[in-house]
Amino acid sequence: MASGVLKRFEPGSPQMSSPGSGSKAIETIAVIGAGTMGHGIAQVAATAGFRVLLNDVDRESLARGVAAIERNLHKGIQLAKLTEDERDRALQRIHGTTNLKECAAADLIIEAAPEQLELKKQVLRQVESASDHPFIFASNTSSLSISEIASSSKRPEAVIGMHFFNPVHIMRLLEIVVGQKTSAETVQTLTDVGRKMRKEPIVVKDVPGFASSRLGVALGLEAMRMFEQGVASVQDIDTAMELGYNHPMGPLKLTDLVGLDVRLNIAEYLHRELGSETFRPPEVLRRMVSEGKLGKKTGQGFYDWTKEDARRAQSS
Ligand code: NAD
Repeated sequence: MASGVLKRFEPGSPQMSSPGSGSKAIETIAVIGAGTMGHGIAQVAATAGFRVLLNDVDRESLARGVAAIERNLHKGIQLAKLTEDERDRALQRIHGTTNLKECAAADLIIEAAPEQLELKKQVLRQVESASDHPFIFASNTSSLSISEIASSSKRPEAVIGMHFFNPVHIMRLLEIVVGQKTSAETVQTLTDVGRKMRKEPIVVKDVPGFASSRLGVALGLEAMRMFEQGVASVQDIDTAMELGYNHPMGPLKLTDLVGLDVRLNIAEYLHRELGSETFRPPEVLRRMVSEGKLGKKTGQGFYDWTKEDARRAQSS
């Protein structure tokens, strides 16, 4: 693998628009954590033709992850999105392991372990100490600082954010998060890998909320404030965005699906880190969380999910 000259990368710079140039060859991808995100990332990587090592500390989680990939691919055949032969070849490319050290032989390591900074730093240190192979380390974190994760690395220029969306095999966005020391070569390599996985990569700076959460949360909080002020009903606020702006789902319905407690945590974090009033959690959000109305998972949120209507609304 040619390592090339490592340059600092600026999001929005012209280097972004030259796919293929200055990119590292990636053949094997290790995915650490086989949960909700990790199994999906392993699936899209194997389907795109990469050899995949899928790792989890927990043998049962690993087995569940592999079973979920098999189910998804089977459904893909039923929907005529892939052939039986493509499914078989994708599955043959995946090798499950509970031995983290094996992952250090990969060209790209995508970490999808739980959202805890110390855990992610520890995983990075462990794979680095297992081998001198010059892999790229990408974190699927949805909120943590890439520069902070990279601070525990011997090669911070090869550490980057690779933020997939759930469910990974369906959602097309890939947010590539550029840390303070991430090199241009690393950004280019991930952009190429993302495209090979049939994702649409966007490149953003390592700031709280990146691009996706910052915009999505701002819209959701403003919708809550409008509801609080009696501007319109929950349903009408959602309809405004669904029919007026072609959003597949209104911001309040989406908040119910994500979970009001999860949204409150992110809002508090963004309010603190960005110092912007846009992210001050509205009173209605705090009250509903304290009443245990967390959205779909508890049956009550901005919608009553115990009713048939809400179930239909979710699938519309
Ligand atoms: P999850 O809890 O479903 O899966 C995490 C997996 O990691 C578990 O199977 C667990 O056994 C395993 N694990 C724990 N410690 C490990 C270690 N040291 N080494 C290897 N495996 C280990 O979590 P998830 O929802 O898949 O989230 C993973 C990451 O992706 C988090 O950083 C999260 O913020 C991010 N993310 C999640 C979503 C989402 O919708 N769930 C969306 C985007 C990003």
